[in-house]
Formats: sequence, C-alpha cells, structure tokens
Amino acid sequence: MTAAAELRARLRDDLLALCAIPSPSRAERAVVDHVAAACRSLGASVREDDAGQRVGGDAGNLIAELPGGRPERVLVNAHVDTVPLVPGVPLDPIAEAADDSAGERVLVRCRERQVLGSDDKAGVAIVLELLRRAAATPVDDRPTLVAVFTVGEERGLLGAQALDVAALRADLGFVFDGEVGVGEVIAAAVFKQAITLRVLGRRAHAALEPERGVHALLAAAAVVQAFPLGRDGDVVANLGCVEGGGASNVVPDEVVLTGEARAFDEHALDALLERIERRAREAVGPLEASVEFASERLYDGYDLGDHVPPIALLRAAAPAHGIALGTVRSIGGSDTNVFNRRGVPTVNVGIGMHDIHSVDEWIDVRDLARACAWVGDALGLA
Ligand SMILES: [Zn+2]
Repeated sequence: MTAAAELRARLRDDLLALCAIPSPSRAERAVVDHVAAACRSLGASVREDDAGQRVGGDAGNLIAELPGGRPERVLVNAHVDTVPLVPGVPLDPIAEAADDSAGERVLVRCRERQVLGSDDKAGVAIVLELLRRAAATPVDDRPTLVAVFTVGEERGLLGAQALDVAALRADLGFVFDGEVGVGEVIAAAVFKQAITLRVLGRRAHAALEPERGVHALLAAAAVVQAFPLGRDGDVVANLGCVEGGGASNVVPDEVVLTGEARAFDEHALDALLERIERRAREAVGPLEASVEFASERLYDGYDLGDHVPPIALLRAAAPAHGIALGTVRSIGGSDTNVFNRRGVPTVNVGIGMHDIHSVDEWIDVRDLARACAWVGDALGLA
C-alpha cells in the first residue's frame, strides 16, 4: 500500500471507531476515554479539565500535549460531542467505496437513518492523525502540539467557554470543524446574541370584563410584526419561540418571545439590538402594553484577516497539495470563536463534512486525508 492509501485507511478506521460511540452533548464520557487512550498510546501527556462539572456533562475537555523541540506551541482542536441522536435507531457507521476511477473515494455514513456525527468526529480523527505524525517526527524538528478535544460545542461552545485557554500557552491554532470544503478556511465568524422580549399586558376576565384587560398576545403579535426578522445585509435576526397565556377565559398578561441576532461587526450588532428594542417599544405603546428587553452575548465573533500565522502557514503549504487556499466567513459559531477571543489566532479548517446535523450526513475519507496531509506539511511535520 502507498503511504497515501495507508493514511486514508487509518483515517477511515479511526473515524468509524469514533462515530460508533454515541456522544451527544453532555454525555461524552465514552468517547473522551477512547480519545484519551489513543493520545496516551501516541506518547502524549493527557489531562481532563473540570468543564464536565461546570456545564452539567459527564466528561470534561481533554488536553493532550506532545512536546517538541521547536519553540511554537500549536493548538489543534476538534469537539467530541454531537447533536442528539435519533431515538431508537442504531448507530451503525459504514464506509463504502465510491464509484471513482482512482478508487480513492471512501464515503462514511450511517447504515440506518441516524446522525453520523462526523461533525466533529472527523475533526477528532484528523487531530489524532496529526499527533501520530508529530510522534513520528524527530523531537527537535517538531513544534509542541497541544491537542484539545472539547465537549458541549453543539450546546453553545460550552466546553470551550469553560476551558482555561491561557493555560494552554498556545501561539496559534487550527480547529477542524469547518463544514466547508478542503482548501477553504473560515477566517471570520459572527458575534451572536440571545434576545428575550417579555411583553406585559393586564390580566382580566375574558367574558366578564374584557375591556379592563390589555391583551399581551395581541401586543406580542405587534412586536413580532415590528421585529427585523431575517437577513438585512450583514446582520440576521430571528424569533424562534413564543411562551405565554393560559386559560381561554383570561385576557393574557404576559408573553415571552425568545430569539437571537448575529452580525460580523460588533457595532452593527449593537445597532441591530437597539433597533429591535426601540421597534418593540413603539409597537406596544399604542396598545398600552409594555415590553422588557434583555439580551446576552452568547459568543464573540472574529475576523483574522489574511496574514495571521495559521493562514500564512496553510497558504505556503497549499500549492504542493494542489490547493488554492480560499478564506470564507461563517454565519455560525464554533470553538474557533472562543480561542480567538482569548488571544490565540485560530483558523477553522474546512474538512468537507456534508449534510451535518441530519440523518443524511456523510463525509469522504479522501477529503480528510487531503486536509490532514496539508496541515501536517504546514506544521513542518515529517
Ligand atoms: Zn461541529
């Protein structure tokens, strides 16, 4: 077998083993133990932090360090949790050769209608392979690799937010959680804010004295109408949930609307939030209702520009792999947002995941191998 075929076979086997272990957010114990054993077998020192207790999960973030003689400390990250599985359907990942002339494409998917979890087990497989390659590189020739396997990413970057990033002392970082193709990296991502609009009316008997009531549901409808739903240039906002009301013979006095807003630019996000609050107040005023507006930052965005070290390294190594590096922006968040906010310039590398968060999810092992070989070269591994 050629070295390239061996790499694909290892990644296929690692990915199948990882995907076969259920690990929805806050229930990552089994996969963390599996990954810890793999890291130890490669000679890395392994520790687990207390994020599990802090976020209500059964496992913490796993940090595996493989020391090198070069001065850089390089963060490599993937998250071990997945979105929830479909209840009652077996988790049975399979690898199938695709119909291509070179015979290099191998597609991994679930046999049954189940979520594969290549988001982000594929990233985990890549990080393990980079550790393996670093371990096979003479110590003096390699940087220190700080591999971080985060928990709870799918529930709002919980593990990364609970992680002591400063303690990693990383100089630069690579996250392998990009749903874009191999060759594309996510160099910018949004700020995200949670929004709560509490619409208050006045309670009254709906038949005896409806005139005394101020209908909170009616006022909430006005708030929804006035809300800047959807995309507006570079910002996007949504209301996703309505709660309130009660008995059918009562004019309801409270309705709570919850939603979110995202923007690439923090000032644009602030302006959007101001607009949401002002429009809500203007909408309920004529109805004699009131509204309490609250919002909370869920995560900060980032914009790396084109010349930060992780992107420069990837760009330099790209031509040898037939890759023309493309930088893209993501309207979603990832652990990359947290690492950047806490001072480690980190890029999210596309690994070719398809149809993530669905039972149609699949990934091509050849894409994993390309991403892995490229980043390994960018890091100067043997
Ligand atoms: Zn992910």
